[in-house]
Amino acid sequence: MSQQQSDAERHERRMTRKKQVVDERIAAASEERGVLILMKGNGKGKSSSGFGTMTRALGHGMRCAVIQFIKGRRETGEYRFFREHERVDFHVMGHGFSWETRDLEQDRAAAKQAWQLAEQLLKDESYNFLLFDELSYMIKYGHLEAERVAHAIAERPHHQNVIVTGRTMARELQVIADTISVINDERHAFRLGVKAQAGIEY
Ligand code: ATP
Ligand code: MG
Repeated sequence: MSQQQSDAERHERRMTRKKQVVDERIAAASEERGVLILMKGNGKGKSSSGFGTMTRALGHGMRCAVIQFIKGRRETGEYRFFREHERVDFHVMGHGFSWETRDLEQDRAAAKQAWQLAEQLLKDESYNFLLFDELSYMIKYGHLEAERVAHAIAERPHHQNVIVTGRTMARELQVIADTISVINDERHAFRLGVKAQAGIEY
């Protein structure tokens, strides 16, 4: 047998075994329900993953909503793009928290108001996908109670999917999450001196 043939056979055996394992896992994962996904860590890719997943839901005709809990410094590309979409309700938290405001009372009131809206969405079965972008900071800075947030998310409609982004995540959210991904900061162009740019950073 030539080297090429034996390589091909070995490859085929490996792939057959692999397929068997994958098929068994697929058969075992038979539950159908919405999931809570947490995107955390210091690297770039958390919010963009949330919006990327939302495009999948939209592609399947699903109804979606976004709440951005940190006020942007300028209009983001995602806001400009998705606010036009008939099946996306896009909310950017009013006034409130950004790195530039320092009014604790105002920040807290804005966070509470945005969370009230989130609780309404979490009771509305017509939404299949909710993105709570940068929600974790509201908990970290004490504007929202982790337990209240976790409770509302845990009680949501059975089929509803939720993604929460933010660098750090409260333990209460991690306990009820189905998927947790950590985006590591191995390198970032900003530290190489590259200016934040439209279409990449915002
Ligand atoms: P993105 O929105 O690009 O997916 P992100 O949601 O993971 O990023 P955030 O922590 O929300 O990251 O930061 C928001 C902004 O800061 C984005 O413009 C992002 O490109 C930038 N950024 C993210 N991580 C880093 C980093 N490690 N160093 C510098 N800038 C970063
Ligand atoms: Mg983000």
